Amino acid sequence: MARLLRALPGLPRRAASPRSARGWAGGGGLCAGAGRGDAGSPAMCEPPLAKSDWQKKLTPEQFCVTREKGTEPPFSGSYLHNKETGMYHCVCCDSPLFSSEKKFCSGTGWPSFSEAHGTVGSDESHAGIIRRRDTSLGPARTEVVCKQCDAHLGHVFPDGPGPTGQRFCINSVALKFKPSRD
Ligand SMILES: [Zn+2]
Repeated sequence: MARLLRALPGLPRRAASPRSARGWAGGGGLCAGAGRGDAGSPAMCEPPLAKSDWQKKLTPEQFCVTREKGTEPPFSGSYLHNKETGMYHCVCCDSPLFSSEKKFCSGTGWPSFSEAHGTVGSDESHAGIIRRRDTSLGPARTEVVCKQCDAHLGHVFPDGPGPTGQRFCINSVALKFKPSRD
């Protein structure tokens, strides 16, 4: 008689919400401390912080490297020998910059990467970094800068391994490593 129980075997209880909002980090931690969570205007990046604001926000080493284009002493960086799996973010604005998958040991004394996170082939338009010509020490070099907050990160040289042939030579103090959770 009773044919009630037609329970659908695998009820798809609420499709798991995608984690798409992650990289955007709309909520906080961005460069400029927007006072309120005004969720209505994702439009533009905040104007860059003044140097004095960065000085308050960063340690002296971080400030020197990222805002004054300094360089940490070779073999001093905390991420030089880091072999954990995860993502290296900008220490200033938290933008994801380099994946551990592209990290290699260059022997130079600084963390080295063969390409920036988001790079497709040779297209860096979706990467978190931009390149800038740097002639401050004489011969032209290519500076690597955070696209979002203009932090100086390091330089890129054409003597890297593998298909890209590039070596992104990046200061540890410009980075914040976040291990991936398995
Ligand atoms: Zn940044």
